[in-house]
Amino acid sequence: MKKVVIIGGGIAGMSVANTLVEKNANAEITVITESPYYFAGPSRPLLLTNEEDYKRIIRGYEEVGLKGIKVLYGHVTKVDPDNRKVYFDETTTSNTSQRVLDYDYLVIAPGVVYDGSKITGYDKYWHKNTTVYDIGRVNVLKKRIWSMSSGKIIVYASKAPYRCAPAPTETAMLIHTVLKYRGVREKFEIIHIDANDKTQPPVIADVVSQLYQKAGIQLVTNQEIVEITENEVITKSGERYKYDILAMLEPNRAPKFIEDAGLGKEWVDVRSPQDLRTPKYDDILAAGDVAKLPYPKNQEIAFESALFAANKILEMLGSSERASVQYAFVGWAYMGNIEGKLETQSVRFGFDYTVNPPKPSKDPEPKAEYTKQKDNWLQAYLQRLFGYEYVQ
Ligand SMILES: Cc1cc2nc3c(=O)[nH]c(=O)nc-3n(C[C@H](O)[C@H](O)[C@H](O)COP(=O)(O)OP(=O)(O)OC[C@H]3O[C@@H](n4cnc5c(N)ncnc54)[C@H](O)[C@@H]3O)c2cc1C
Repeated sequence: MKKVVIIGGGIAGMSVANTLVEKNANAEITVITESPYYFAGPSRPLLLTNEEDYKRIIRGYEEVGLKGIKVLYGHVTKVDPDNRKVYFDETTTSNTSQRVLDYDYLVIAPGVVYDGSKITGYDKYWHKNTTVYDIGRVNVLKKRIWSMSSGKIIVYASKAPYRCAPAPTETAMLIHTVLKYRGVREKFEIIHIDANDKTQPPVIADVVSQLYQKAGIQLVTNQEIVEITENEVITKSGERYKYDILAMLEPNRAPKFIEDAGLGKEWVDVRSPQDLRTPKYDDILAAGDVAKLPYPKNQEIAFESALFAANKILEMLGSSERASVQYAFVGWAYMGNIEGKLETQSVRFGFDYTVNPPKPSKDPEPKAEYTKQKDNWLQAYLQRLFGYEYVQ
């Protein structure tokens, strides 16, 4: 039996693994992932308003193990493409002493690294920063916005492409909601600094601009943060902004082992969105946020790229089975609640890449119903990929 090794047990990695099992691939499937649980991303911002709970978005791998997918816990540090080997480190929950794995086909799907190392002062003042992106740091941001009584808040979006385009806007709107709910909104200034010329995704930038006006959130575009101090951020053009709370998304990139293996610089190079093999190696594919694709980095695209990757592996294994897939997505961006009720409304948007030029869509009216739709969508993904529903 051929050995398929998948790095990363997230949306893309588990989509590849599940698809290969569902399509009866004649292969031994092993996922190597950092920890024995997965925390979903999309609803993390709602932890700020207590509309989401950690326990609903965490999943273990045991139920997929039952299907015959082998899961090893470890941190991959090196890929040796010429000798078809993956090296990984033991973790505290390691279920194996094995540190090197051979493969016939390798799928790289470890998501992104949030890298502040090029921002001057980051090494000293990293603790000043929080973001909704990380499961621990979102909790620190929550503590800060629920306990402080006045001040300046900076929310920052780094240059696209980064994971989940609307999350910085979601952060600003949800912070507004919490402060309004607490009755202290007028004691805070919220400034969203964006390294891009518009808030992301551009398709809803006009909606965001109107909501920011209503919420009194200041927007500064085309400004890249290059330095942080104890109480200021400094942009490339020399503008200085004071902060008491900083919610800065660091630039995203692929883990270092990818560049070290010659598989791409910032992201893993692939042949095309449909053929996710690396240009140099037929037996190495990428999927999810780590792949260099001409699309946004989100869960739907991660899933779709994973199905294309699985299809290519099925083809190389000689199977005639294929998963049905095309690139298109619908997403929902949390817009909080202008009045300060802890009942988030969301805007729906989407992109269809099956037509040329790609077709955007949106409903500019924020609705609570869309927040529910996003929750159903996320829970359905978790059930599908991890094999079980959250039980109350
Ligand atoms: C706050 C937030 C909000 C989001 N909102 C939305 C949204 O509204 N809509 C939407 O569609 N998408 C959203 N996303 C994006 C979505 O979650 C990602 O696009 C998707 O998870 C990408 O899938 P992936 O498999 O590439 O990465 P992930 O799902 O992150 O999985 C990567 C896995 O690899 C593991 N890993 C990483 N490095 C290593 C290593 N060296 N060795 C072993 N394992 C490793 C990680 O621990 C993780 O389990 C959001 C993400 C976040 C964080």
